[in-house]
Amino acid sequence: MGTLSDRLNRLSESQTLAMTRKSRELSAKGVDVINLSIGEPDFDTPEVIKNAAKAAIDDNITHYSPVPGFPELRDAISKKFQRDNNLEYPPDHIVVSTGAKQSIANVILSLVNPGDEVLLPAPYWVSYLEMIKLAEGTPITISSSIENDFKISAEQVKNAITDKTRLIIFSSPCNPTGTIYSKDELREIAQVVAEHNDVYIISDEIYEHIIYEGKHVSIAEFDFIKEQVITVNGVSKGFAMTGWRIGYIGAPEWIVKACIKIQGQFTSGASTISQKAAETAILMPPKSTEEMCQIFHKRRDLLLDLLNEIPGVTSNTPPGAFYVFPNISFYFGKNYEGEEIKSAGDLAMFLLKEANVAIVTGEAFGEPNHIRISYACSEETLKEAIARIKVALEKLK
Ligand code: PMP
Ligand code: GLU
Repeated sequence: MGTLSDRLNRLSESQTLAMTRKSRELSAKGVDVINLSIGEPDFDTPEVIKNAAKAAIDDNITHYSPVPGFPELRDAISKKFQRDNNLEYPPDHIVVSTGAKQSIANVILSLVNPGDEVLLPAPYWVSYLEMIKLAEGTPITISSSIENDFKISAEQVKNAITDKTRLIIFSSPCNPTGTIYSKDELREIAQVVAEHNDVYIISDEIYEHIIYEGKHVSIAEFDFIKEQVITVNGVSKGFAMTGWRIGYIGAPEWIVKACIKIQGQFTSGASTISQKAAETAILMPPKSTEEMCQIFHKRRDLLLDLLNEIPGVTSNTPPGAFYVFPNISFYFGKNYEGEEIKSAGDLAMFLLKEANVAIVTGEAFGEPNHIRISYACSEETLKEAIARIKVALEKLK
């Protein structure tokens, strides 16, 4: 094998995707695996959205699009920001990308110099950390705890900011904890950041439609911070469109121009067919996602009830997204067939092997005492998965 770049060698594989890969490999061998590791709705993309894509093919909308996306889509996103988030982003303050993943990578690569510090409230979504490493930035985690519903305070942000701080990245509703920051909490954080003109916020709002308690607020709603915020969103989660790969940002124009420059060299405009589908999704009345959300809500309650019956698994009640993030450190130091469980990663592998259930270790999200369970699957699947996990955990002595 040849020599890989240092950059690549520093990079870790996405743990969410790695567990999904492992469970697909086992399934291919005929093992009956239940995959609760990936965060993607199990629903199909709504018909009306699929029809828009079919029409795009028939209408030969199959050539390169402008790098930042079709004008009609940017226009639809601009209206959506106004309709749902109280945000004024004109179309030329919007860039459409190949998934919110690319949107976030574009911004990090545009703003972070080697050695710049990027604040990451933990638990954080897996890919933020690796993208920061790729940009040669220094991730600085800010810790939270289950007792506080995994929220960090403005005071903690204040204490973490140094003259090297360039960015803070967080998601609300949060992957992996489902945490939602209230308007007051966001205002306090915004006030701290506003004291530092050269510190920016990536506000990842991709789970905004999947909320059971409370209300989604965009931090860019506060005028005094808007010029320092990049609002990220996409159609993957809210519209069951993970495979279509459409994400977007609303941001100050100079950041938009930088992202267009990067994207113009890496990928050009996102898939034209997906853009047409996304336009239809984004213009649908917000009510259209409600039914999906109600189903997720029922599943969350079911999962929490089921977990409650397992000794040593403690969870809070996540108000959004479709994950539960329980503490499982009770099982550390226990053994099965001579193998000791030393970490959440060991427990994840044990559950995959013994219960044939794939979940994700909390280490990947910066919280080593927890695991992440996705409940984007049917109630029957959840019941079967948790029953299997319970039996497996009983074997640990
Ligand atoms: N942000 C968060 C918090 C996520 O969970 C995901 C899920 N993949 C993404 C961004 C990226 O979404 P996508 O690239 O599918 O738009
Ligand atoms: N965001 C999802 C998750 O956290 C999808 C997988 C990924 O893109 O990493 O599971």
